[in-house]
Amino acid sequence: MPESIDLAADADSTPNSRRGSEPLTDAALAQLNIAIDTVSEARLREILTGVVDRVPAVARAVFSELVRTVADDSDQESDQEGVREYAPRWEVCVNCDEEYDASKERDEGECVYHAAQIEYDPRDFEEWHFYEPVDTPDNRSRYPGKFSWPCCGGDGTVEWCEEGVHEPGGMSKKQPRH
Ligand SMILES: [Zn+2]
Ligand SMILES: [Zn+2]
Repeated sequence: MPESIDLAADADSTPNSRRGSEPLTDAALAQLNIAIDTVSEARLREILTGVVDRVPAVARAVFSELVRTVADDSDQESDQEGVREYAPRWEVCVNCDEEYDASKERDEGECVYHAAQIEYDPRDFEEWHFYEPVDTPDNRSRYPGKFSWPCCGGDGTVEWCEEGVHEPGGMSKKQPRH
């Protein structure tokens, strides 16, 4: 016998949202996660944009994940006017190249970096690493003396020489760490 349908559903749910409100089975959910992991990024963006357009609840959820409200401390009275500024929540730090959550309060010391680019002579490596990138974490720790940081004079094992807070404006080149 099928479960009875609750006709006295929430006043704010539309027929559309009610129809799709049943949770997926575990097997279906597992397959969905696989599909999310493997589908192309372009397709995923297209799908997300489409669902955001059609389903207000999804739009709201995605909004809170991706967008932050920028505090306007110039005028406290404007709070009630609904005048808000929005900005991307996730930024890439111009100093350390890490992606960070710009909606969180900045924490002194959260960002560590070198003020200059690491230097090395590719000729020191070409005999045994000619087909691989030279500047890798492995090479830095195995051959620290072949690398140098002009900012602090450190070798390949020195991880940073400056610290501060993340600043926006970097170029995304790493995957998020989590
Ligand atoms: Zn340095
Ligand atoms: Zn940083």
